[in-house]
Amino acid sequence: MAAPCPERLSEAERDAAGARLRGSGLRATAPRRSLLALLDAWEGHHAVDDLAAGLADLDHPLPRQSVYNVLADLVEVGLALPADTGPGRALYERASSWHHHFVCVACGAVVDVPCVVGDKPCLEATVPGAEIDEAQVIFRGRCADCRDA
Ligand SMILES: [Zn+2]
Ligand SMILES: [Zn+2]
Repeated sequence: MAAPCPERLSEAERDAAGARLRGSGLRATAPRRSLLALLDAWEGHHAVDDLAAGLADLDHPLPRQSVYNVLADLVEVGLALPADTGPGRALYERASSWHHHFVCVACGAVVDVPCVVGDKPCLEATVPGAEIDEAQVIFRGRCADCRDA
């Protein structure tokens, strides 16, 4: 999946990210501010390698392992989400309301799909003795571009 053209992260964007970090109880370190600002600027779903490359392009280089660590911090406080798109590279996105994903089997495009029910657990299931938190649904098929091709 091609990453969008990197733009420069403005000081205002990184400051806004810093405020959100502090609001979530995290110290607003430079790596966290840069990565959160990048997720906000790019939108969409991104692999760790793409995020590391994006940060390098933007003159805020961060080793891959640090990108993982920062993402784990952001996920823990709910500022970023691991996007459940099935097997393959782990993708991350900025936090938004609970949703599902459509994955194009031809080009790999990932598109957000609003939760049909609107809230977890999305689907009812009977699992004796269990308490169900969520049901993750992955829609697969061909996106509009691939369908027309
Ligand atoms: Zn496609
Ligand atoms: Zn998503």
